[in-house]
Amino acid sequence: MAIRSGREFVESLRDDRVVYANGERIADVTEYPPFRGALMSLAALYDLQNEHRAELTFASPSTGQPVAASYLMARTVEEVEFRRRAEQMRADFTYGLMGRMPDFCNAMVTDFASGAADLGVREPRFGDNITRYYELCRENDLCLTHTLIDPQVDRARGPAEQTDPFLTMRPVRETDSGVIVRGAKMLATLAPLSNELLVGPFLPRRPGEEDYALCFAIPNHTPGLKFICRETYDDGRGRFDRPLTSRYDEQDALVIFEDVLVPWERMFIYRDIDIYNSVTGRRLGYTQLQACIRGLAKLKFLAGLACHIAEAIGRSDALHFRAQLGELVANVELVSGLVRAGVPELVDAKSELRPPRALSATLWVLIPQVQVRAIQLIREMSGSGLILTPTQKDFENPEIVGHLEKYLRGKSLSARERVQLFKLAWDLIGEPFGSRQFQYEWFYAGDPYFTRARFYELPVVQEYKEIVTKLLRSNGIE
Ligand SMILES: Cc1cc2nc3c(=O)[nH]c(=O)nc-3n(C[C@H](O)[C@H](O)[C@H](O)COP(=O)(O)OP(=O)(O)OC[C@H]3O[C@@H](n4cnc5c(N)ncnc54)[C@H](O)[C@@H]3O)c2cc1C
Repeated sequence: MAIRSGREFVESLRDDRVVYANGERIADVTEYPPFRGALMSLAALYDLQNEHRAELTFASPSTGQPVAASYLMARTVEEVEFRRRAEQMRADFTYGLMGRMPDFCNAMVTDFASGAADLGVREPRFGDNITRYYELCRENDLCLTHTLIDPQVDRARGPAEQTDPFLTMRPVRETDSGVIVRGAKMLATLAPLSNELLVGPFLPRRPGEEDYALCFAIPNHTPGLKFICRETYDDGRGRFDRPLTSRYDEQDALVIFEDVLVPWERMFIYRDIDIYNSVTGRRLGYTQLQACIRGLAKLKFLAGLACHIAEAIGRSDALHFRAQLGELVANVELVSGLVRAGVPELVDAKSELRPPRALSATLWVLIPQVQVRAIQLIREMSGSGLILTPTQKDFENPEIVGHLEKYLRGKSLSARERVQLFKLAWDLIGEPFGSRQFQYEWFYAGDPYFTRARFYELPVVQEYKEIVTKLLRSNGIE
């Protein structure tokens, strides 16, 4: 097989998967209205690949057929650039609003497969497994969800110290064909609308936590696997009233493993703490690159939105508005420059930090900060405009539409246009969709305190300290 069409993608989700949402079991996720908007956005991403093959695909090394650019194992800077452009085109297509668009996990699987030797260092079969799995995903254009984190019950204790040792998913027993696992993981964005679940390593495990040091992938319709979705946000209010919720609510789910069989050939790390703890830090960096590109797309969108708002209310000439807008634009430029700077790092074998430094710093430090700042500035600039946004139905009511058209128009926008603009902003900031986006941007790449702390482990820290020591010594202070 090669790249899929949107229709083929949608068809592939009609299986026996067990998904619960809003208190009911969803018989067919493709027909469930609250999932429909995000599903259509994903399908459009699959169609986009077919419409722009030259920009978004490369020839499969196995078959010569076109496969998704986010699976390319780049050997040159030009090839990383190709990936960057392709991922940017797809992230821009969804305005950076789908954090877990398929490209993200495609990149993650490519990272894992690029480090197959690390996974197979003790048992070569695990290295072979990830290589085969990467090829399966690439050749079938699969859409993955992933889950890394343990249930947040008592964070003061590790998974082995919880009152129930099966709270965090772990093996129950081994069989000839695989390992039976039980417990839960959280959370898995896109779970109901993807084909496969990748369970990966993230937070370090300690000695005694071997049972929790697993990495594997299974189809979403595997018996015993259950996804319990958070409350859905798309309640059918439509494009005018919920311009973003109606298209991009990609869902998040709790993942339950009720004695699920993980076949041996789908196991990549098994009860090995050293490998579990080291692979994330040794990743080549495709995941970071894609995540930065997606973050950049969203920042551009936020900056553009802020500019529209300033103009809509006639404030774009005010100095402090211009300074705030300039700050947002400068932040976009900073992120954009760092993403480009990160491209060569992906092929630089000598890089001290894996994943690469510029990309990791951008993802773990800068992007969460500037996302928060952008939201704060849009709130400040908007004032009550964010709140006074009557509905589509109000505009259809002849008794009041005249008032709306008179009092809610913008400097050079009709009332409908101005209200639509502010509804877009409120959907992105104030509605459940927007609040979730805010939480997502802060946490999706891991707890920023944990990820930032990794920079303190860099060898350059000694270099920086030496600078100060040198000055102190030159003053005769030891
Ligand atoms: C919208 C959304 C989507 C997500 N999608 C996915 C996904 O698709 N796949 C996936 O695997 N994960 C996903 N995540 C999970 C994400 O990886 C985690 O939220 C993140 O790693 C933080 O973990 P946590 O949520 O368990 O928070 P915690 O680790 O419990 O952190 C909560 C707070 O405690 C603080 N804290 C941490 N350690 C300490 C300490 N020792 N002392 C004091 N305070 C501490 C943290 O800084 C934070 O402020 C998603 C998260 C969100 C919000």
